[in-house]
Amino acid sequence: MNKTHHSRVPIPAALSALLLPFVAAIAATPPQGPAPTELPRLIKIRDDVYTIQNVNSNLAELGAFGGNVTVYLTDEGVILVDSKNDKVHDDIIAKVRTLTDKPIKYVILTHNHGDHAAGAPGMAAMGATVIISKGDRDNLVRTKQPWLPQVTYTGRADLFVGGKEIELHEIKGHTRGDTFVYLPQARVVAVGDLSHNPPAIPLQVNYPDGGGWTDWVNALDTIATLDFEFLVQGHGPVLTKAEFAAFRERVFTIRERVRALNKQGKTAEEIAATLRPEFNWPAEGRTGNVPDMMQELR
Ligand SMILES: [Zn+2]
Repeated sequence: MNKTHHSRVPIPAALSALLLPFVAAIAATPPQGPAPTELPRLIKIRDDVYTIQNVNSNLAELGAFGGNVTVYLTDEGVILVDSKNDKVHDDIIAKVRTLTDKPIKYVILTHNHGDHAAGAPGMAAMGATVIISKGDRDNLVRTKQPWLPQVTYTGRADLFVGGKEIELHEIKGHTRGDTFVYLPQARVVAVGDLSHNPPAIPLQVNYPDGGGWTDWVNALDTIATLDFEFLVQGHGPVLTKAEFAAFRERVFTIRERVRALNKQGKTAEEIAATLRPEFNWPAEGRTGNVPDMMQELR
């Protein structure tokens, strides 16, 4: 990855391996824009909800710093949704310390990819309990990750911390066991890579990890039924409910376009060539999910 990356922040081999499931399909072409130099920002959503977000939310920053983190503050401790990667551990802790001196009690992982999960071992070493769905822990096992979360759940789980409720909902889409985390009192939902900002981060699911575009749109429709005001994406800015509805429409439209072109007998390259100008699809040579989408969307 460093060969094509020109990143000033070196990416260790172990981390590259963790990132691979997400980045493999899109790493063939070097990311656009300058190498990231500015650390992620702490952004306030509510008095007790913050997000730690990359400044430009592009692929180079994804490689260097990972995806978004959500910080939920309670009187009994902090809940994090996702953990970025181990290289920004100290920065995440320093940012949380500007908000509270309470310990990080729980780290909920939205899915198993390294840009969201690779910081979790460092949080666990500080005493946090790390939670992931059983399906996505299985993905970590299958891809031979050296560290595994302590707690899994299937379907639905709730945490009650300091008088606040944290809902975990397992759903298929980006992987076989994505978790979206709903904070009913704050009316905020954190959804991991079920939502990520196009075109800087290519829209795709991870087929080997059990994702699919049919499940993805279904997941977005489920999330849309929640009573929320703000949505934290896996990558990119916080969305309003209306902005999230537009994102859902884009994913749905691309899926249906691929299905139609597939039925017309177009090749993967022809489909990708059509998508690029229509949807600002990632640069030449990156067909992303198209071959697998053609299998799924007949
Ligand atoms: Zn991600």
